Amino acid sequence: MDKTLNRRDFIKTSTAAVGVTTVASGITLTTFAANKDPVTNTKRWGMLIDTNRLSEPEIDVMVSACKKEHGWGSEKHSVGDQKPSWIKKVKVKDRLTQKETSLPLMCQHCEQPPCVDVCPTNASMKREDGIVLVDRHLCIGCRYCMMACPYDARSFVHEDLTNQKAHMPRGKGTVESCTLCVHKVDDGEQPACVASVNSDAVIFGDLKDSNSKISKTLRKIQSTQIRADLNLNTGVRYSGI
Ligand code: SF4
Repeated sequence: MDKTLNRRDFIKTSTAAVGVTTVASGITLTTFAANKDPVTNTKRWGMLIDTNRLSEPEIDVMVSACKKEHGWGSEKHSVGDQKPSWIKKVKVKDRLTQKETSLPLMCQHCEQPPCVDVCPTNASMKREDGIVLVDRHLCIGCRYCMMACPYDARSFVHEDLTNQKAHMPRGKGTVESCTLCVHKVDDGEQPACVASVNSDAVIFGDLKDSNSKISKTLRKIQSTQIRADLNLNTGVRYSGI
């Protein structure tokens, strides 16, 4: 099966109210009615984070918004520091100037995602619109993707989960990471972390639309990708670092 197979797209374009469909040998999807547009590669979702304008408290607010939206962060841990972490505040240091900058770091939604390359079950996948996801039903918890991710953006669920969000079910024994709030994006909304910032310090939009705010801003300012040397063409871009 093509690793970029768009399962959500498949689900969305199904006309069945509820059904079970075989998509490949041994793999079935339970489908639910959805009236949304199919996901296509005419869009590529991205985020631009201006570290000069984003304050440390605002980064904390972004992390809190993600926790609240997806229900992670209150788990009890017995396994060292391996806590769920979909987005975190990190400091980066310019080797030349020694300037330190704080920024939010999450899945960078690479065009060439190493996590997808190494996943033995196709649980790691990239949608046509560039959003990188984990299908928890296919994830066997091998954690190869965690080792492959240069951004340390994935975490493993060690514990039983309670009070899960209906829109983003999680699974013990599986790997998870930022979904770019795909459930909101598909409804035409902004990701929760972006909406939590009351300024243009964080912009979300379609990188393929030359008239989108993110594309216009990217043309105006200098920006970079973290570990640009890896040529992963990340969907998340930063300025000010
Ligand atoms: S932990 Fe899950 S998503 Fe990651 S490589 Fe293994 S099967 Fe794939």
